[in-house]
Amino acid sequence: MNNTGVIFFPAFDWAISPTHPEREERLLYTRDQIFEEGIMDLPNIHEFKPRLAEKKDIARVHFCVPNVDAQITAAHLVSAGSALVIADAVIKGEVDNGFSIARPPGHHAMTVAHGNRGFCNINNEAIMIEYIRNKYGLRKIAVVDTDVHHGDGSQEIFYDDPDILFISFHQDGRTLYPGSGFVYELGGPMAWGSTINIPLPPNTTDAGILRVLDNLVLPILEEFEPELIVNSAGQDNHYTDPLANMRFTAHGYAELNRRLAPDIAVLEGGYSVETALPYVNMALLMAMAGIDYSNLREPDYKSELFKEDPRHIEYIDQLISHQLINFRSRQQHIEENIKKYGREYSEHQQIYYDTDGISEDQSRRLRICPACPGWRIIDSSARHRNGKKYHVFCISVPAFACPDCRREALNAYKDVAAYNNNFDFVYLQDRANDRYIALDKAKGREEVYE
Ligand SMILES: [Zn+2]
Ligand SMILES: [Zn+2]
Repeated sequence: MNNTGVIFFPAFDWAISPTHPEREERLLYTRDQIFEEGIMDLPNIHEFKPRLAEKKDIARVHFCVPNVDAQITAAHLVSAGSALVIADAVIKGEVDNGFSIARPPGHHAMTVAHGNRGFCNINNEAIMIEYIRNKYGLRKIAVVDTDVHHGDGSQEIFYDDPDILFISFHQDGRTLYPGSGFVYELGGPMAWGSTINIPLPPNTTDAGILRVLDNLVLPILEEFEPELIVNSAGQDNHYTDPLANMRFTAHGYAELNRRLAPDIAVLEGGYSVETALPYVNMALLMAMAGIDYSNLREPDYKSELFKEDPRHIEYIDQLISHQLINFRSRQQHIEENIKKYGREYSEHQQIYYDTDGISEDQSRRLRICPACPGWRIIDSSARHRNGKKYHVFCISVPAFACPDCRREALNAYKDVAAYNNNFDFVYLQDRANDRYIALDKAKGREEVYE
């Protein structure tokens, strides 16, 4: 048995719209189910109270345009804060592991935040991870995203970070939002191989998903040796979920969680609000706490309807060997990338905020450094829902930047802040010194989070 921490935060006062699938009832039924089954009366289940994350915690991860207040509500601060409470409890050893059952979710939110994408404004897991690194000095952390949708926000945030292993399995992006998470998305040039995507065909069952877990996810985790394992726990692989097409069961989720044994699980999606979601959340909590879940079955479950297609198994086995080779050759690829790109790597991308109908135009540069993960520059522009167009310049210094990179980045900020009038806002995210600045160029005023 484990001592397991849990937080519930249904965010009663916040929803995209009253009938939106990501609404407050999502967690009310879960709470009822867990209380009715007597899980909360068990001596090894410990309920924690949520708290607000600080704006600084948000600025440590995101460039919110024009500022943090514009992109969040109190509900977002509590949802992120819930993950921080669980993180504190786990790392201080008050509990063995913990599950933050809070909303709104976060895994589609990327580094720059112009609006809401895939029901997410800010990324709860990323905020928690940078908080843990800052407060407790942990460095190597693994994120296993088990939501049916590709965790594109978490992937993008950690894409250039070789110390964060991001693994996502999800329904194939050719058949589901957000349309990414393909096998060739493997990380930036200096973090190549620390992003691993596992796109699965629609209708994959427990057998297929657990095959991926046992033969790819667990061996990679063992080799990476993270100090902490975080599960982005999306429950929308369930066979009743209205937004996706997988055949995963509550029992499958419990089994997945038991084998993965995450230190911290943070709720993401799951939209079968009244039926599957409470079951799956309860299954996860039971598995984390080491409670017997062998009798946990959906009332309509019939095993003969859940036979894995042999073609899926064949595809999955090919995918596993392909991604194992990629992961195991990551150092060699990084060395080749240093030769290939020299001091700088740049790319351009369009990011669409489906909930808000915002299109962002973004060019990004990674300053490559042989001594550290390097630092990032992002030039981003987007027209917001209020009609105002923002053109912003963002500088991000990672937590484990070398002194040279940090100095170079700070000088770049000073230069752009003083002499470049192309931008409405200039941001500096100095994680190494835990100091975050948003400069409003028109007003000539800096807002500092420290
Ligand atoms: Zn999802
Ligand atoms: Zn450096």
